[in-house]
Amino acid sequence: MLLGQAMATAERQTGVACPDCGLFQRLPVISRRQIAECRRCARLLAGPAAGRVEAPLALALAALLLLLPATVAPLLVVSSHGAARTSWLWSGIAGLWRAGFAPLAAVVGAFSVAFPYLYLAALIGVLASLLLGMRAHVGPVFRWVIRLRPWVMLEIFLVGCFVAYSRLHLVVGVHVLAGGWCLMGATSALLLALTQFDERTVWEALPLRPRSRRRRHVRGYPSRPDTAVRAIACTVCGLLVTAAHAAGGCPRCGAALHDRKPHAFTVTAALVAAGFLLYVPANVLPVLTLVSFGHEQSNTIITGVLELIHNRLWPLALIVFLASIVLPLLKLCGLTWMLLSTLQGSRRALIARTRFFRFIDTVGSWSNIDVFVTSVLVALLKFGAIAQARAGGGLTAFAAVVILTMIATRTFDTRLMWDAQRRG
Ligand SMILES: [Zn+2]
Ligand SMILES: [Zn+2]
Repeated sequence: MLLGQAMATAERQTGVACPDCGLFQRLPVISRRQIAECRRCARLLAGPAAGRVEAPLALALAALLLLLPATVAPLLVVSSHGAARTSWLWSGIAGLWRAGFAPLAAVVGAFSVAFPYLYLAALIGVLASLLLGMRAHVGPVFRWVIRLRPWVMLEIFLVGCFVAYSRLHLVVGVHVLAGGWCLMGATSALLLALTQFDERTVWEALPLRPRSRRRRHVRGYPSRPDTAVRAIACTVCGLLVTAAHAAGGCPRCGAALHDRKPHAFTVTAALVAAGFLLYVPANVLPVLTLVSFGHEQSNTIITGVLELIHNRLWPLALIVFLASIVLPLLKLCGLTWMLLSTLQGSRRALIARTRFFRFIDTVGSWSNIDVFVTSVLVALLKFGAIAQARAGGGLTAFAAVVILTMIATRTFDTRLMWDAQRRG
């Protein structure tokens, strides 16, 4: 029995299919400090943090413990002409809600408060279960941890707070309070936890569902694909499952198994088309109206960047310009390029396209900075006719573009580009 388990583990360590290009290959046994990349598209298949559980668990616990005071203690205080306004983590959500921007309030609340709590609690649960040897039912929970990660935007919210702080600093007195320092600590601990953490460590420690252990797992996946048993790779945990037994889902993480993501091309094309349509109002309509001594000034995204330049806040202007204007356009145009070249079965720049997809998938959520900046400004600048900030209609369209393009990078399957060039 023990030997059987050891064999299954050994097989899991060697046979992999690249999630980006679909190439079946054997993963060499690597030491710490080494990484393993796909030999065709250079996708990282095994990271340098393999085998660590205690360090990421301790850091995730620290992040959760720091997030609690960051939620209940005030983050910032602003003062103008003897009056003061204090902001909590949830103040921006309440401000947007009261101003009639309920969908935006829900988005900010989910990305900056609800999802970070859910993510940290689930991650701690998974790592603690591994440490205590309680591995049943951990697979489906860890599947959701991985799916939730792109939507946890604590670090982006923090940068948004910093941009808002810098803009406020020009017109009113502003100070960071205890909650703000705890938020910085929680974000740093979370990011550090993720550098000490390797998904494969968790997956390789988890058992397959008992009834399917022998039948579904592809044993000793051959290195020559023409002699291989037809297999499907789980897109979440990477397990190889024989196609004949894929109907019941992945025996390790419970995800539905498909040779390629279903309807990937049409769903992504529809999302990209909707993204292009919304990109116009997102950039034409005002996202923020600032009132200063009775004088109203409506800012679109680009005039907001110009205002930062005018006030000599060059680094912040560059961050907001790249995140809010360049990145959404890069995602929309990049996905269009990928969809068109898939349609044509093109072989040109296939590796570059795959790498470019990884880039937009990794940095895509940073476009939300402007949404967070506005939520902080709306919560803090409430001095009536002296100084006030109001969200504009363009912000809803902008948030929709960001979310649609993030979903589009999830629905697209880069393996379709590699399949298409073979057919082409
Ligand atoms: Zn690859
Ligand atoms: Zn799986």
